[in-house]
Amino acid sequence: MSNTNYSFFGAVERSFDKAAKFTKWDEGILEQIKACNAVYRMNFPVKIGDKIEVIKAYRVQHSHHKSPCKGGIRFSKAVNLDEVMALAALMTYKCAIVNVPFGGAKGGISIDPKQYTPYQLENITRRYTSELTKKNFIGPGIDVPAPDYGTGEREMAWILDTYTQLKPGEIDAAGCVTGKPITQGGVWGRREATGLGVFYGLRAVCKMPEVMTKVGLTTGVGGKKVIVQGLGNVGYHSAKFFQNAGSRIVALAEYEGAIWSNDGLDVDAVFNHRKATGSILNFPGATNFENSADALEMECDILIPAALENVIDGENAARVKAKIIGEAANGPLTPEADEIFAQRGILVVPDMYLNAGGVTVSYFEWLKNLSHVRYGRMEKRFEETQNANMIKKVEELTGKTISEQDKSKIVHGPDEIDLVYSGLEETMINATHEVMDAWKANSEIPDMRTAAYVVAINKVGVAYAELGIFP
Ligand code: NAD
Repeated sequence: MSNTNYSFFGAVERSFDKAAKFTKWDEGILEQIKACNAVYRMNFPVKIGDKIEVIKAYRVQHSHHKSPCKGGIRFSKAVNLDEVMALAALMTYKCAIVNVPFGGAKGGISIDPKQYTPYQLENITRRYTSELTKKNFIGPGIDVPAPDYGTGEREMAWILDTYTQLKPGEIDAAGCVTGKPITQGGVWGRREATGLGVFYGLRAVCKMPEVMTKVGLTTGVGGKKVIVQGLGNVGYHSAKFFQNAGSRIVALAEYEGAIWSNDGLDVDAVFNHRKATGSILNFPGATNFENSADALEMECDILIPAALENVIDGENAARVKAKIIGEAANGPLTPEADEIFAQRGILVVPDMYLNAGGVTVSYFEWLKNLSHVRYGRMEKRFEETQNANMIKKVEELTGKTISEQDKSKIVHGPDEIDLVYSGLEETMINATHEVMDAWKANSEIPDMRTAAYVVAINKVGVAYAELGIFP
């Protein structure tokens, strides 16, 4: 695994090239779609204790074919320009597939957040935001960051606060970043959005009889044996939604090790055990694996890598036993692994649309910020009154009484969370079908990732062509 010469951006380019030959665009347009439009590499000083530390950070805007650009910010010692460029490119393709009208971007700060106090992290985040603001690399109509590996609501609140201090009176300032706490203009459902989107996407795949027959599984997610790598934002929520739908979570992996239980693990109990003991290992009733990566090779139906890139490559792909791999993380498989899985008939549901739940709900959050009104505020009461009138009429006409329990379910008007979940579900189901249809339409397309790239390239290509950039 993890090969130090591996170029993540190179892998994205290889996947792109593999798909480009199934599209009609000429080479110039393809080059333009592929290239990173703007790259900002910075070094800035931050006082840590009594020393000055020079922090390395990046923001890459992959595509300006739509504005604003959008993409998360990652805090990890492993962050480098190649990785940020790859993640920014994936964001462009992801947004295109799920019809979110943004160009792709990504940011990263090369730090291990565990080595800093919250106060020091706040200083680093605020300084990073000032650097972005100075160079016009952030703003509700320019470039809108969000959480990614190592960041969450807290960091997004610091970004918003720094931006609004530097841009007083900007009426739409709350839309400069998404994934914020609810009290700071966030939207209900953003926290779990990526994991929920992973669940909706894989559930849609599992409902397709011809696909399931091909991989040798019955339809539906109920009873499926699932393994999840990474118990962070995306992994925890993916695992939780699968468990709630009746799947069996047989293994969970974190960086310190992995645990296995054939009877199924309770995700919250494991999460709390890790919080209390500092490790996922020694969970009562489960078997330990000191080498966390071994979990990727255990017997299961669905494997969900939800930690980092490059975890399954040409070396360990042959040992993976899953029938379906759902890429919740960005780039967990190398192109070599893709080839092996295609040959072995293992279905890889690709990152570039499967983990688009985060950006989809971020889009809803951004719209909420620009409209300055929460979802459901205008229609909830109206719909409840309409529904109550309808029930009354049905009772009058039939002479029957509907139970109070059923009545309250039918009457219920939409809250923000209902609308966000419904918008996300619709988006993920449509995207799954669109990608599958593109795959079915051409028998030469070797895998679902290539089909997803074909869909994305066509959409970005049309946008460029319509902009008249290529007369
Ligand atoms: P996170 O920081 O919340 O969680 C990542 C988890 O992975 C952590 O608990 C970490 O300890 C664990 N981990 C690290 N190395 C590991 C290893 N070798 N084996 C097992 N576990 C390991 O990050 P996240 O936001 O959940 O992001 C995870 C992945 O999902 C990343 O690839 C990210 O780009 C992608 N993603 C995130 C979002 C989002 O909304 N947060 C959206 C789309 C894609």
